[in-house]
Amino acid sequence: MTPTLGTVTGHFDSAADRLRLTDVQRTLLLGSEREVRVRFSINVGTGSALFEGYRVQHNGARGPFKGGMRFHPSVDLEETRALAALMTWKTALVDIPFGGAKGGVSCDPGRLSERQLEQLTRQLTARLVDFIGPTRDIPAPDVNTNARVMAWMMDEYSKFHGYTPAVVTGKPLDLGGSPVREAATAAGLVHVLEAALSAEGRRLRGCTAVVQGFGNVGSWTARLLHERGARVLAVADADGAIGRSTGLDVPALVSHLGAGGAIADFPGGERISREQPERTPCDVFVPAALGGLVTPEVAERLGCRLLVEGANGPVMPAADEVLRQRGIEVIPDILANAGGVVASYFEWVRNLQHVSWSEAELDAQLRERMLAAFRAVHGRARTEGTTLRQAAYELALSRVLTAVRLRGQID
Ligand code: NAD
Repeated sequence: MTPTLGTVTGHFDSAADRLRLTDVQRTLLLGSEREVRVRFSINVGTGSALFEGYRVQHNGARGPFKGGMRFHPSVDLEETRALAALMTWKTALVDIPFGGAKGGVSCDPGRLSERQLEQLTRQLTARLVDFIGPTRDIPAPDVNTNARVMAWMMDEYSKFHGYTPAVVTGKPLDLGGSPVREAATAAGLVHVLEAALSAEGRRLRGCTAVVQGFGNVGSWTARLLHERGARVLAVADADGAIGRSTGLDVPALVSHLGAGGAIADFPGGERISREQPERTPCDVFVPAALGGLVTPEVAERLGCRLLVEGANGPVMPAADEVLRQRGIEVIPDILANAGGVVASYFEWVRNLQHVSWSEAELDAQLRERMLAAFRAVHGRARTEGTTLRQAAYELALSRVLTAVRLRGQID
Protein backbone atom coordinates (compact mmCIF):
# COMPACT_ATOMS: atom_id res chain seq x y z
CA MET A 1 0.00 0.00 0.00
CA THR A 2 1.26 3.45 -0.81
CA PRO A 3 -0.11 6.80 0.26
CA THR A 4 -3.28 7.65 -1.60
CA LEU A 5 -4.07 11.04 -2.97
CA GLY A 6 -6.61 11.25 -0.11
CA THR A 7 -3.89 10.93 2.54
CA VAL A 8 -1.74 13.58 0.94
CA THR A 9 -4.79 15.81 0.42
CA GLY A 10 -5.75 15.44 4.10
CA HIS A 11 -2.39 16.77 5.30
CA PHE A 12 -2.41 19.43 2.58
CA ASP A 13 -5.90 20.63 3.51
CA SER A 14 -5.19 21.16 7.18
CA ALA A 15 -2.00 23.11 6.36
CA ALA A 16 -3.85 25.09 3.66
CA ASP A 17 -6.64 25.92 6.16
CA ARG A 18 -4.21 27.32 8.72
CA LEU A 19 -2.32 29.25 6.04
CA ARG A 20 -5.69 30.61 4.80
CA LEU A 21 -5.00 29.73 1.18
CA THR A 22 -7.57 30.83 -1.38
CA ASP A 23 -9.39 28.27 -3.54
CA VAL A 24 -7.26 29.19 -6.55
CA GLN A 25 -4.04 28.76 -4.55
CA ARG A 26 -5.22 25.38 -3.25
CA THR A 27 -6.14 24.10 -6.68
CA LEU A 28 -2.86 25.28 -8.16
CA LEU A 29 -0.72 23.79 -5.36
CA LEU A 30 -2.52 20.47 -5.06
CA GLY A 31 -2.99 19.62 -8.72
CA SER A 32 -0.23 18.36 -10.99
CA GLU A 33 1.42 20.77 -13.39
CA ARG A 34 1.79 18.04 -16.05
CA GLU A 35 0.86 14.37 -16.32
CA VAL A 36 2.43 12.31 -19.08
CA ARG A 37 1.04 8.90 -19.95
CA VAL A 38 2.95 6.73 -22.42
CA ARG A 39 2.20 3.37 -23.99
CA PHE A 40 4.72 1.10 -25.69
CA SER A 41 5.43 -2.53 -26.37
CA ILE A 42 8.45 -4.76 -25.95
CA ASN A 43 9.12 -8.25 -27.19
CA VAL A 44 8.73 -10.68 -24.30
CA GLY A 45 9.71 -13.82 -26.20
CA THR A 46 6.18 -15.03 -26.87
CA GLY A 47 5.38 -11.83 -28.80
CA SER A 48 4.82 -8.15 -28.08
CA ALA A 49 3.49 -7.08 -24.69
CA LEU A 50 1.99 -3.64 -24.05
CA PHE A 51 3.00 -1.48 -21.10
CA GLU A 52 1.69 1.79 -19.73
CA GLY A 53 4.01 4.29 -18.01
CA TYR A 54 3.51 7.62 -16.25
CA ARG A 55 5.46 10.67 -15.27
CA VAL A 56 3.61 13.09 -13.04
CA GLN A 57 5.27 16.50 -12.65
CA HIS A 58 3.50 17.92 -9.66
CA ASN A 59 5.02 21.35 -9.08
CA GLY A 60 8.18 22.86 -10.54
CA ALA A 61 8.07 26.36 -9.03
CA ARG A 62 11.23 25.84 -6.95
CA GLY A 63 13.33 24.01 -9.56
CA PRO A 64 13.37 21.09 -11.98
CA PHE A 65 11.02 18.25 -11.10
CA LYS A 66 12.61 15.45 -9.07
CA GLY A 67 11.37 12.01 -8.09
CA GLY A 68 11.68 8.27 -8.49
CA MET A 69 10.65 5.89 -11.26
CA ARG A 70 9.06 2.68 -9.98
CA PHE A 71 8.36 -0.59 -11.77
CA HIS A 72 5.54 -2.41 -9.98
CA PRO A 73 2.17 -3.97 -10.82
CA SER A 74 0.39 -1.49 -8.50
CA VAL A 75 1.66 1.61 -10.34
CA ASP A 76 -1.21 3.78 -11.58
CA LEU A 77 -1.86 7.43 -12.18
CA GLU A 78 -3.57 8.01 -8.83
CA GLU A 79 -0.70 6.56 -6.78
CA THR A 80 1.87 8.39 -8.92
CA ARG A 81 0.08 11.71 -8.33
CA ALA A 82 0.16 11.23 -4.55
CA LEU A 83 3.84 10.32 -4.53
CA ALA A 84 4.71 13.25 -6.84
CA ALA A 85 2.98 15.71 -4.50
CA LEU A 86 4.90 14.27 -1.51
CA MET A 87 8.14 14.97 -3.41
CA THR A 88 7.16 18.63 -3.87
CA TRP A 89 6.66 19.09 -0.12
CA LYS A 90 9.80 17.09 0.72
CA THR A 91 12.15 19.04 -1.55
CA ALA A 92 10.68 22.34 -0.33
CA LEU A 93 11.01 21.32 3.31
CA VAL A 94 14.71 20.40 3.06
CA ASP A 95 15.17 23.49 0.89
CA ILE A 96 16.77 21.99 -2.18
CA PRO A 97 16.06 23.62 -5.57
CA PHE A 98 13.75 20.97 -6.99
CA GLY A 99 10.06 20.49 -7.58
CA GLY A 100 8.25 17.19 -7.14
CA ALA A 101 7.63 14.35 -9.59
CA LYS A 102 7.11 10.61 -9.69
CA GLY A 103 6.80 8.07 -12.43
CA GLY A 104 6.68 4.43 -13.20
CA VAL A 105 5.50 1.56 -15.28
CA SER A 106 2.79 -0.87 -14.31
CA CYS A 107 4.65 -4.18 -14.69
CA ASP A 108 6.01 -7.12 -12.75
CA PRO A 109 9.78 -6.83 -13.18
CA GLY A 110 10.23 -10.25 -11.55
CA ARG A 111 8.75 -11.77 -14.72
CA LEU A 112 11.06 -9.88 -17.09
CA SER A 113 14.56 -10.90 -18.10
CA GLU A 114 17.42 -8.41 -17.70
CA ARG A 115 17.27 -7.76 -21.44
CA GLN A 116 13.51 -7.14 -21.39
CA LEU A 117 13.94 -4.81 -18.42
CA GLU A 118 16.52 -2.87 -20.41
CA GLN A 119 14.19 -2.67 -23.43
CA LEU A 120 11.35 -1.48 -21.21
CA THR A 121 13.55 1.22 -19.62
CA ARG A 122 14.82 2.42 -23.01
CA GLN A 123 11.31 2.54 -24.53
CA LEU A 124 10.03 4.50 -21.54
CA THR A 125 12.94 6.95 -21.65
CA ALA A 126 12.66 7.53 -25.40
CA ARG A 127 9.00 8.50 -24.93
CA LEU A 128 9.81 10.85 -22.05
CA VAL A 129 12.86 12.39 -23.66
CA ASP A 130 11.19 15.78 -24.25
CA PHE A 131 9.91 15.99 -20.69
CA ILE A 132 12.99 15.03 -18.66
CA GLY A 133 16.48 16.58 -18.52
CA PRO A 134 18.87 18.18 -16.01
CA THR A 135 16.90 21.45 -15.98
CA ARG A 136 13.46 19.85 -16.53
CA ASP A 137 12.93 16.66 -14.59
CA ILE A 138 15.48 14.32 -13.01
CA PRO A 139 14.31 10.73 -12.33
CA ALA A 140 15.87 8.50 -9.64
CA PRO A 141 15.58 4.88 -8.50
CA ASP A 142 12.48 3.81 -6.60
CA VAL A 143 10.69 0.51 -5.95
CA ASN A 144 12.27 -2.18 -8.21
CA THR A 145 14.51 0.26 -10.06
CA ASN A 146 18.19 0.68 -9.28
CA ALA A 147 21.51 2.10 -10.46
CA ARG A 148 21.50 -0.25 -13.47
CA VAL A 149 18.12 1.08 -14.63
CA MET A 150 19.35 4.66 -14.15
CA ALA A 151 22.42 3.88 -16.31
CA TRP A 152 20.14 2.69 -19.14
CA MET A 153 17.95 5.80 -18.78
CA MET A 154 21.00 8.04 -18.91
CA ASP A 155 22.36 6.22 -21.96
CA GLU A 156 19.07 6.44 -23.85
CA TYR A 157 18.63 10.14 -23.02
CA SER A 158 22.25 10.81 -24.04
CA LYS A 159 21.54 9.38 -27.52
CA PHE A 160 19.24 12.35 -28.08
CA HIS A 161 21.09 15.08 -26.16
CA GLY A 162 24.75 14.07 -25.83
CA TYR A 163 26.42 12.78 -22.68
CA THR A 164 24.18 13.92 -19.83
CA PRO A 165 24.86 12.27 -16.46
CA ALA A 166 22.79 14.91 -14.61
CA VAL A 167 19.54 13.66 -16.22
CA VAL A 168 19.15 11.01 -13.49
CA THR A 169 20.51 10.42 -9.99
CA GLY A 170 21.22 7.16 -8.22
CA LYS A 171 23.61 6.10 -11.00
CA PRO A 172 26.46 3.64 -10.62
CA LEU A 173 29.55 5.21 -9.04
CA ASP A 174 31.52 4.86 -12.27
CA LEU A 175 28.98 7.01 -14.13
CA GLY A 176 29.04 9.87 -11.63
CA GLY A 177 26.84 8.30 -8.94
CA SER A 178 27.13 9.17 -5.26
CA PRO A 179 29.05 7.11 -2.70
CA VAL A 180 26.52 8.00 0.02
CA ARG A 181 23.18 7.51 -1.81
CA GLU A 182 22.50 3.96 -0.59
CA ALA A 183 22.59 4.82 3.11
CA ALA A 184 21.51 8.45 2.75
CA THR A 185 17.80 8.08 3.59
CA ALA A 186 18.60 6.20 6.80
CA ALA A 187 21.48 8.56 7.64
CA GLY A 188 19.17 11.56 7.27
CA LEU A 189 16.54 9.84 9.43
CA VAL A 190 19.03 9.18 12.20
CA HIS A 191 20.33 12.79 12.10
CA VAL A 192 16.77 14.05 12.54
CA LEU A 193 16.04 11.52 15.29
CA GLU A 194 19.16 12.58 17.20
CA ALA A 195 18.09 16.21 16.92
CA ALA A 196 14.57 15.38 18.16
CA LEU A 197 15.94 13.50 21.17
CA SER A 198 18.45 16.24 21.88
CA ALA A 199 15.60 18.81 21.89
CA GLU A 200 14.21 16.84 24.86
CA GLY A 201 17.61 16.67 26.55
CA ARG A 202 18.08 13.01 25.57
CA ARG A 203 20.67 11.06 23.60
CA LEU A 204 20.37 8.25 21.11
CA ARG A 205 22.96 6.17 22.95
CA GLY A 206 21.06 3.85 25.29
CA CYS A 207 17.67 4.38 23.59
CA THR A 208 15.64 1.37 22.51
CA ALA A 209 14.25 1.05 19.00
CA VAL A 210 12.08 -1.20 16.81
CA VAL A 211 12.31 -1.18 13.00
CA GLN A 212 9.54 -2.43 10.71
CA GLY A 213 10.80 -3.30 7.22
CA PHE A 214 14.35 -4.42 6.58
CA GLY A 215 15.05 -3.26 3.02
CA ASN A 216 17.17 -0.28 2.08
CA VAL A 217 15.73 2.21 4.59
CA GLY A 218 15.02 -0.25 7.42
CA SER A 219 18.28 -2.19 7.37
CA TRP A 220 20.45 0.93 7.12
CA THR A 221 18.47 2.62 9.88
CA ALA A 222 18.91 -0.41 12.15
CA ARG A 223 22.63 -0.50 11.35
CA LEU A 224 23.14 3.19 12.09
CA LEU A 225 21.07 3.05 15.29
CA HIS A 226 23.16 0.10 16.47
CA GLU A 227 26.42 1.91 15.54
CA ARG A 228 25.36 4.93 17.58
CA GLY A 229 24.67 2.90 20.70
CA ALA A 230 20.89 2.44 20.52
CA ARG A 231 19.51 -1.05 21.25
CA VAL A 232 17.43 -2.45 18.41
CA LEU A 233 14.95 -4.69 20.26
CA ALA A 234 13.07 -6.09 17.25
CA VAL A 235 12.88 -5.94 13.48
CA ALA A 236 10.31 -7.27 11.01
CA ASP A 237 10.15 -7.77 7.28
CA ALA A 238 7.45 -9.18 4.99
CA ASP A 239 8.39 -12.75 5.92
CA GLY A 240 8.82 -12.62 9.69
CA ALA A 241 10.18 -10.91 12.76
CA ILE A 242 12.93 -11.35 15.32
CA GLY A 243 13.52 -9.83 18.75
CA ARG A 244 16.03 -9.75 21.58
CA SER A 245 15.36 -7.90 24.84
CA THR A 246 19.02 -6.87 25.25
CA GLY A 247 19.26 -5.66 21.64
CA LEU A 248 19.98 -7.46 18.37
CA ASP A 249 23.46 -7.71 16.91
CA VAL A 250 22.43 -5.83 13.75
CA PRO A 251 25.66 -6.31 11.74
CA ALA A 252 25.39 -10.06 12.39
CA LEU A 253 21.75 -10.00 11.24
CA VAL A 254 22.70 -8.13 8.06
CA SER A 255 25.44 -10.73 7.34
CA HIS A 256 22.94 -13.54 8.01
CA LEU A 257 20.52 -12.05 5.43
CA GLY A 258 23.37 -11.39 3.00
CA ALA A 259 24.22 -15.09 3.18
CA GLY A 260 20.68 -15.96 2.10
CA GLY A 261 19.11 -16.44 5.56
CA ALA A 262 15.68 -15.24 6.63
CA ILE A 263 15.01 -12.77 9.47
CA ALA A 264 13.03 -15.33 11.48
CA ASP A 265 15.90 -17.88 11.29
CA PHE A 266 18.49 -15.54 12.73
CA PRO A 267 20.13 -17.45 15.59
CA GLY A 268 20.90 -14.28 17.59
CA GLY A 269 17.30 -13.62 18.67
CA GLU A 270 13.86 -15.06 19.34
CA ARG A 271 11.42 -15.60 16.49
CA ILE A 272 8.33 -13.48 17.22
CA SER A 273 5.03 -12.79 15.44
CA ARG A 274 4.93 -10.00 12.84
CA GLU A 275 2.70 -7.94 15.20
CA GLN A 276 4.99 -8.30 18.23
CA PRO A 277 7.48 -5.57 17.17
CA GLU A 278 4.61 -3.05 17.14
CA ARG A 279 3.70 -3.91 20.74
CA THR A 280 7.27 -3.93 22.04
CA PRO A 281 7.80 -1.14 24.59
CA CYS A 282 10.57 1.09 23.19
CA ASP A 283 11.64 4.68 22.78
CA VAL A 284 11.48 4.79 18.99
CA PHE A 285 9.46 2.91 16.37
CA VAL A 286 10.56 3.28 12.74
CA PRO A 287 8.03 2.07 10.13
CA ALA A 288 10.26 1.59 7.07
CA ALA A 289 8.22 -0.90 5.04
CA LEU A 290 5.23 0.14 2.96
CA GLY A 291 2.70 2.96 3.18
CA GLY A 292 -0.46 2.59 5.26
CA LEU A 293 0.74 -0.17 7.64
CA VAL A 294 0.10 1.90 10.77
CA THR A 295 -3.68 1.67 10.91
CA PRO A 296 -5.70 3.06 13.86
CA GLU A 297 -5.66 -0.46 15.42
CA VAL A 298 -1.87 -0.66 15.13
CA ALA A 299 -1.56 2.89 16.53
CA GLU A 300 -3.56 1.77 19.61
CA ARG A 301 -1.10 -0.99 20.41
CA LEU A 302 2.21 0.69 19.54
CA GLY A 303 4.62 0.51 22.46
CA CYS A 304 6.83 3.46 21.44
CA ARG A 305 7.10 7.08 22.64
CA LEU A 306 8.30 8.48 19.33
CA LEU A 307 7.50 7.30 15.77
CA VAL A 308 9.83 8.23 12.90
CA GLU A 309 8.38 7.71 9.41
CA GLY A 310 11.03 5.98 7.30
CA ALA A 311 8.47 4.85 4.71
CA ASN A 312 6.33 7.23 2.66
CA GLY A 313 2.90 7.59 4.25
CA PRO A 314 3.16 4.70 6.75
CA VAL A 315 0.64 6.26 9.18
CA MET A 316 -2.96 6.42 8.03
CA PRO A 317 -4.67 9.78 8.77
CA ALA A 318 -7.02 8.23 11.36
CA ALA A 319 -4.02 6.60 13.04
CA ASP A 320 -2.29 9.98 13.23
CA GLU A 321 -5.11 11.17 15.47
CA VAL A 322 -4.82 8.09 17.71
CA LEU A 323 -1.08 8.73 18.09
CA ARG A 324 -1.72 12.37 18.95
CA GLN A 325 -4.21 11.38 21.63
CA ARG A 326 -1.79 8.82 23.04
CA GLY A 327 0.99 11.44 23.22
CA ILE A 328 3.22 9.62 20.72
CA GLU A 329 5.16 12.18 18.73
CA VAL A 330 5.52 11.58 14.97
CA ILE A 331 8.43 12.79 12.85
CA PRO A 332 6.75 12.97 9.41
CA ASP A 333 8.00 11.29 6.23
CA ILE A 334 8.59 14.51 4.31
CA LEU A 335 11.20 15.39 6.94
CA ALA A 336 12.42 12.01 8.23
CA ASN A 337 13.08 10.25 4.91
CA ALA A 338 14.28 13.25 2.87
CA GLY A 339 17.97 12.25 3.16
CA GLY A 340 17.81 10.28 -0.10
CA VAL A 341 16.68 13.22 -2.19
CA VAL A 342 19.21 15.50 -0.49
CA ALA A 343 21.98 13.07 -1.52
CA SER A 344 20.50 13.03 -5.03
CA TYR A 345 20.74 16.81 -5.08
CA PHE A 346 24.48 16.58 -4.27
CA GLU A 347 24.88 14.05 -7.10
CA TRP A 348 23.12 16.35 -9.57
CA VAL A 349 25.25 19.38 -8.56
CA ARG A 350 28.39 17.27 -8.85
CA ASN A 351 27.41 16.09 -12.35
CA LEU A 352 26.57 19.63 -13.51
CA GLN A 353 29.79 21.11 -12.16
CA HIS A 354 32.07 18.15 -12.90
CA VAL A 355 33.41 18.20 -9.34
CA SER A 356 33.50 15.51 -6.68
CA TRP A 357 33.32 15.54 -2.91
CA SER A 358 34.60 13.08 -0.35
CA GLU A 359 32.20 10.84 1.54
CA ALA A 360 32.93 12.78 4.75
CA GLU A 361 32.07 16.09 3.06
CA LEU A 362 28.83 14.66 1.68
CA ASP A 363 27.87 13.27 5.10
CA ALA A 364 28.55 16.61 6.76
CA GLN A 365 26.45 18.46 4.17
CA LEU A 366 23.61 15.95 4.50
CA ARG A 367 23.63 16.37 8.28
CA GLU A 368 23.61 20.16 7.97
CA ARG A 369 20.60 20.16 5.61
CA MET A 370 18.63 17.68 7.69
CA LEU A 371 19.29 19.56 10.94
CA ALA A 372 18.33 22.89 9.38
CA ALA A 373 15.03 21.36 8.26
CA PHE A 374 14.43 19.78 11.68
CA ARG A 375 15.09 23.09 13.47
CA ALA A 376 12.67 24.93 11.18
CA VAL A 377 9.91 22.33 11.68
CA HIS A 378 10.48 21.89 15.41
CA GLY A 379 10.63 25.64 16.00
CA ARG A 380 7.38 26.24 14.12
CA ALA A 381 5.60 23.36 15.86
CA ARG A 382 6.59 24.69 19.29
CA THR A 383 5.67 28.31 18.47
CA GLU A 384 2.34 27.43 16.87
CA GLY A 385 1.47 24.55 19.22
CA THR A 386 1.01 22.07 16.34
CA THR A 387 2.30 18.61 15.52
CA LEU A 388 5.57 18.26 13.64
CA ARG A 389 3.63 17.01 10.59
CA GLN A 390 1.36 20.08 10.57
CA ALA A 391 4.37 22.40 10.92
CA ALA A 392 6.28 20.54 8.19
CA TYR A 393 3.38 20.81 5.72
CA GLU A 394 2.81 24.48 6.55
CA LEU A 395 6.47 25.30 5.96
CA ALA A 396 6.64 23.32 2.73
CA LEU A 397 3.42 24.79 1.33
CA SER A 398 4.37 28.34 2.16
CA ARG A 399 7.79 27.93 0.48
CA VAL A 400 6.20 26.57 -2.69
CA LEU A 401 3.55 29.32 -2.65
CA THR A 402 6.24 31.98 -2.29
CA ALA A 403 8.07 30.61 -5.35
CA VAL A 404 4.84 30.40 -7.36
CA ARG A 405 4.04 34.02 -6.48
CA LEU A 406 7.55 35.35 -7.14
CA ARG A 407 7.48 33.73 -10.56
CA GLY A 408 4.23 35.54 -11.29
CA GLN A 409 2.27 32.31 -11.74
CA ILE A 410 -0.42 33.51 -9.32
CA ASP A 411 -1.41 36.80 -7.63
P1 NAD B 1 12.63 -2.06 0.13
O1 NAD B 1 11.80 -2.72 -0.89
O2 NAD B 1 14.11 -2.11 0.03
O3 NAD B 1 12.23 -2.63 1.59
C1 NAD B 1 10.93 -2.81 2.03
C2 NAD B 1 10.97 -3.73 3.26
O4 NAD B 1 9.67 -3.79 3.85
C3 NAD B 1 11.37 -5.17 2.94
O5 NAD B 1 12.25 -5.64 3.96
C4 NAD B 1 10.03 -5.92 3.04
O6 NAD B 1 10.20 -7.28 3.38
C5 NAD B 1 9.38 -5.14 4.17
N1 NAD B 1 7.93 -5.32 4.29
C6 NAD B 1 7.00 -5.36 3.32
N2 NAD B 1 5.77 -5.57 3.87
C7 NAD B 1 5.95 -5.64 5.21
C8 NAD B 1 5.09 -5.86 6.31
N3 NAD B 1 3.77 -6.02 6.14
N4 NAD B 1 5.62 -5.87 7.57
C9 NAD B 1 6.95 -5.72 7.75
N5 NAD B 1 7.83 -5.52 6.74
C10 NAD B 1 7.32 -5.49 5.49
O7 NAD B 1 12.13 -0.54 0.17
P2 NAD B 1 12.91 0.74 0.70
O8 NAD B 1 13.66 1.38 -0.41
O9 NAD B 1 13.59 0.43 1.99
O10 NAD B 1 11.66 1.72 0.98
C11 NAD B 1 10.82 1.53 2.10
C12 NAD B 1 9.88 2.71 2.23
O11 NAD B 1 10.65 3.91 2.34
C13 NAD B 1 8.94 2.93 1.04
O12 NAD B 1 7.75 3.49 1.55
C14 NAD B 1 9.69 3.96 0.22
O13 NAD B 1 8.79 4.70 -0.61
C15 NAD B 1 10.27 4.81 1.32
N6 NAD B 1 11.44 5.62 0.94
C16 NAD B 1 12.56 5.01 0.47
C17 NAD B 1 13.67 5.78 0.16
C18 NAD B 1 14.95 5.16 -0.30
O14 NAD B 1 15.96 5.87 -0.40
N7 NAD B 1 15.00 3.85 -0.54
C19 NAD B 1 13.62 7.19 0.31
C20 NAD B 1 12.45 7.78 0.81
C21 NAD B 1 11.37 6.97 1.13
